[in-house]
Formats: sequence, structure tokens, C-alpha cells
Amino acid sequence: KQITAENIRNSVRENNIRFLRLAFTDINGTMKNVEVPTSQLEKVLTNEIRFDGSSIDGFVRIEESDMVLYPDLSTWIVMPWQDGASGKIGRLTCSVHNVDGTPFAGDPRNNLQRVLAEMREFGYSDFDIGFEAEFHLFKLNENGNWTTEACDHASYFDMTDSDEGAKCRREIVETLEDMDFEVEAAHHEVGNGQQEIDFKFDDALTTADRVQLFKLVVRTVAKKHGLCATFMAKPLQGEAGNGMHTNMSLFQGGKNVFYDAAAENGLSDTALYFLNGILTHARAITAVGNPTVNSYKRLIPGFEAPVYISWSLKNRSPLVRIPSAGELTTRLELRSADPTANPYLLLAATLKAGLDGIKQAKMPMPPISGNVFEMTETERLAAGIQPLPSTLHNAIKAFKEDKLIQEALGEHLTRRFIESKELEWAKYTQSVSRWELEHYIDY
Ligand code: GLU
Ligand code: MG
Ligand code: MG
Repeated sequence: KQITAENIRNSVRENNIRFLRLAFTDINGTMKNVEVPTSQLEKVLTNEIRFDGSSIDGFVRIEESDMVLYPDLSTWIVMPWQDGASGKIGRLTCSVHNVDGTPFAGDPRNNLQRVLAEMREFGYSDFDIGFEAEFHLFKLNENGNWTTEACDHASYFDMTDSDEGAKCRREIVETLEDMDFEVEAAHHEVGNGQQEIDFKFDDALTTADRVQLFKLVVRTVAKKHGLCATFMAKPLQGEAGNGMHTNMSLFQGGKNVFYDAAAENGLSDTALYFLNGILTHARAITAVGNPTVNSYKRLIPGFEAPVYISWSLKNRSPLVRIPSAGELTTRLELRSADPTANPYLLLAATLKAGLDGIKQAKMPMPPISGNVFEMTETERLAAGIQPLPSTLHNAIKAFKEDKLIQEALGEHLTRRFIESKELEWAKYTQSVSRWELEHYIDY
């Protein structure tokens, strides 16, 4: 969508906009904002809004702390709520630049753009992405704090019109539609209080920007309903976790190069090479797609989440599934990532791995037809099926051994990512949990 500076000036006037929110994403995938009053509009449009980057995780050292925001005008949106302001709030997604105007290497959004440019140089025009981000809606307590009490006791695709969860989900969908999202599906998921809302696929950068906004909308609307939305991977032990299935396709001109009408299952060799790249680098990609301690509590058997590196055409247990689809929608569905992933880093990593797969031009292992969980260890080994990392610690190790996935993040982000995740793991290993007390107090 083309939006010019003049369109934004008009929109600000017509909508009585009082504040401009300039959004960007830090290394952890957390959304950050710099908010300025509308009097600063011209400065916003000419990339003159500065902020102190030293307070942002994974950004810069104190002595080089000044950063500049470059808004992407195509992301202009009038927010549907006012947050107590006397007028409306306009929002722009930004890239972070150094004061000399060069893109800042520690900005995950810039980094994705860098890998997308490599893709175009390599001859492809678009990396299209559809995310399926799942989340839980829990009740707030009387103090307005989160609980882990589900807002309903419904299950997959249940019709629960009357409860707060269903009302909340509908308002989320309406709000998203008001913000130009094309919502394709919204349904209850397997777990109590668990929901899924899918919006239409688009190019990688647009979809990564949108999923950040999507999370903000879900959280804000949930609060209005006296609920708390969580995207954590496994909020409840013994129940379904939250995935963020990542549907990927690659385009050359207007043509989906994953599709080949003459081939078996409509899958081109290019798709299979790309898939092989993903499988080859799956362990390191997991560090990026499943970046929290809690992420690994989801990647266990029994909850439709993957545990082993394999692929299939139908079955939901492997890492990558190829849903049956037509010319435009033939895609690879990566099922490991969860919604705590930084979408910009995740897509940079999967694209880099897939493109490398195309360069190597090697066929992946054969698809599996049964349930990988029902195979014995020996059968899996014989079929060359490796496990995904079982903990954040193992995933970071895999990431540190994978040069290609490190290149996907670039030098700056790689260093900060490892530092930040090693610290997180160290803190976790020092914590003493309820489980440990229950098991060891009487030892
Ligand atoms: N909630 C499942 C997961 O953790 C996915 C369910 C589905 O197939 O949509 O990945
Ligand atoms: Mg789902
Ligand atoms: Mg799915």
C-alpha cells in the first residue's frame, strides 16, 4: 500500500490526531514506542526524531547511544483507542538508524530487510508469510493482575457465544478489521481459554510488522474484557501450548516457485531444496523461533507441537508440514516456532536457511507418513530423524555452532542474542521451583 507524507498530514488533520506513536522492536521481540505530540509531525516525516538507544535491550553502548527513527510510511495507522488522550493516536512502524543515517545493525527489522535484499539479489521477488499465532485468555483478579484461570472451558472450534472469551475474540477481530487486517479465521483452540486468529499472508516484512501490532491489539482488547492475553509458549502444564505456525512461500515475479503442477503433490524441486535448508539448520533456527526457557516445555509429545526434525504431507507431528494447496498457496508450514519469537529474526533465519538449501540443491529426507512419536528410537535413527533441542541451553549451543544462522542475524544481533539468552538461561538454572521443593524437600 502506497502512503505518502501528504496522505499522513491529511489523515492527522481529518482524524484530529494528537499523538504520534513511533514503534520499533528490540532483540527480544518486545515492541517499543517513542511518542511525540502531533506538533512534531514534520520532524517525524523527515526522519529527525531521536531517542536514547542505550536503555533498549540489545541496542548500543552508552557512548554511542543516540539513535534516529525512520518511519515506514506504508505502516501508517490510526489507533482505534485513545488511551486517555484528548484526540486520537496515529502509529508508524519505524526502522532504527544511526545518527549518520546508516541503518542500525542491531535493529531486527533492518536485519530482515538486509536478508530480503540478499533474496532479491539471488533472483526471487518475495518471501510470503502467514503466521498462526495462538494465545490464551485468562481472567484478571480483583486487583487487575493476571491469573492462570482460563476464561472458558471450551475446546477446539467449540461454539461458545455467550462467554467473555468469545466476546473478546470477536472484538479483537473487529478491531483488527478496522485496522486493515484481513482476518481469515478466528477460532477456539484445543486448550481451555486458548484462541487462534489468523490474518492473510503477505510479504515477510509486512507480516512481521503486522504480527507485532496484532499482539498489541489482542492484549489491549483482552484487558478491556477483564482478561489477560498471554502468548507464552506453555502457560499451563499438561495442556496445549501456544504455537506460531509459520507458513512460507517464495515468489519470482507473480509466480509461487514452490508450486509445480507437474510434480508429485504440486511441490517443486525448489520447495524441496528450501525445505532441506530448513531441516538442515532446524536446531539453530529453534533458538530463534523458540527463544524462552518456557518454549521448550511446549516442544514435547502429545500436544500437536513438534519434537523431531522431519516433514510430512499430512501428519501434524513433524517439524514441517506441507498442507495440500493450489498454485498460489502451496507453502511450507514450520510448526516449531512460538509467539514469543521475534518475528523479524525468525524470518531472517528461515529465509537464510531456505535460500542456502536452494543453493545446495539437495533433496530432503523422505517425508514421513505415520506419527513420529509412535516410532521407536531405533526406527527414528534409522530414518535419520534427529530431535529438536530439548532446552534453551541446547538450542543456544546449536545456534553457536551454526555459522549460516549467525549470518542470518548478522554480527551485532548474533552477539547480543547469545549474551542475552545465556544470561536468561543462567538466571533460570539458579531459580528453585515448586517442583524441586516437592521432590527434594524430604531427601
Ligand atoms: N497448539 C499447537 C502447538 O502448540 C498447535 C495446534 C494446531 O495444529 O493448530 O503448536
Ligand atoms: Mg492452531
Ligand atoms: Mg497450522
